[in-house]
Amino acid sequence: MTAWVFAEEIEGSPSEGSLELLSKARSHGDVTVFYVGDGSDASWTTLGNHGATKVYHLDPGDSLPSAPAAASLADLLESDGGEVVLFGAGNTDRDVAGRLAARLGKPLVAGAIDIDATDGISVTSEILGGTKAVATAITAASPALVATRPKAFAAEAVGGSAPEVVSVPVPDVGRSGAVIVERHVEASVGPDLEAAAVVVSGGRGLGSAEGFEMVDELARLLEGAVGGTRAVVDAGWVPYSYQVGQTGKTVKPNVYIACAISGAMQHVVGMKGSSTIIAINKDPDAPIFAIADLGIVGDVHTVVPQLIGALKERA
Ligand SMILES: Cc1cc2nc3c(=O)[nH]c(=O)nc-3n(C[C@H](O)[C@H](O)[C@H](O)COP(=O)(O)OP(=O)(O)OC[C@H]3O[C@@H](n4cnc5c(N)ncnc54)[C@H](O)[C@@H]3O)c2cc1C
Repeated sequence: MTAWVFAEEIEGSPSEGSLELLSKARSHGDVTVFYVGDGSDASWTTLGNHGATKVYHLDPGDSLPSAPAAASLADLLESDGGEVVLFGAGNTDRDVAGRLAARLGKPLVAGAIDIDATDGISVTSEILGGTKAVATAITAASPALVATRPKAFAAEAVGGSAPEVVSVPVPDVGRSGAVIVERHVEASVGPDLEAAAVVVSGGRGLGSAEGFEMVDELARLLEGAVGGTRAVVDAGWVPYSYQVGQTGKTVKPNVYIACAISGAMQHVVGMKGSSTIIAINKDPDAPIFAIADLGIVGDVHTVVPQLIGALKERA
């Protein structure tokens, strides 16, 4: 069986999400990657190391990649075949997945956290953010088009050999051929939120943007990243890039410290995969305590300064 993985190049390398997908795809047999970006020997080595046996390379230059990628991928699937095509949760992944489903006239199963190909293709997906239910869909479509949740699988290099790389021409997609005229990279300090081993997040209970400063300090002392809820992003206390949750980032650190966060479902879906969750909230009935490994009932303005003090004493 051949599994396909969609891989977008981010800052010169295959996206982390595509490497996560390769871990799953290689358990199903041969893996063909459809790669969108400049491409380089280093990228091919990385893909081979993660289990890719063949790479189709599309370099769209300054064209917005989704329309040409979907057109090219549809043609390749029709000529080469393939039982399953996996997409990550990136914006381009989702855009290409939707366009491809329309071109092929096939259903797309989204929100997948597992794919089993033992007996047909069965896809386990999170329903309502996965806090209450998961569903298993058996799809008869071939290829099965599957979009996965962020961090559903762990990226793992297996030391595979270099894949065969085939360049594909950029197809003419007519009027939908939009062009990228400028790129902005958001400045950030400290560890990457999505990759950090420790995340300290703050919620509305901090009371103000100034209240957030102690969250910054605690994260700095723990060499962690800072996150927040949508409430604090909407209040303008922190930028959107800090938002954890359904419409923000998905994090899976070793330790997640939730400071004055209620634990709304839309927040929890973005952090429930953390290994250890520590919650500080003055309300003993706050829903966050239902998923916390360690709960501290107390005023965040008392508890967090005490933690900061204790860490400074240790340093
Ligand atoms: C479509 C949609 C998408 C959404 N996406 C997201 C998302 O991606 N991420 C996200 O976070 N939210 C998201 N939300 C919003 C979400 O529903 C909640 O409104 C939000 O998460 C609440 O943020 P909060 O916990 O900071 O605030 P609140 O729910 O107001 O909770 C504040 C908490 O602080 C506690 N508290 C108050 N004062 C103190 C104190 N002094 N000491 C200790 N504790 C204190 C309170 O007991 C309370 O539990 C989304 C909502 C919708 C409808």
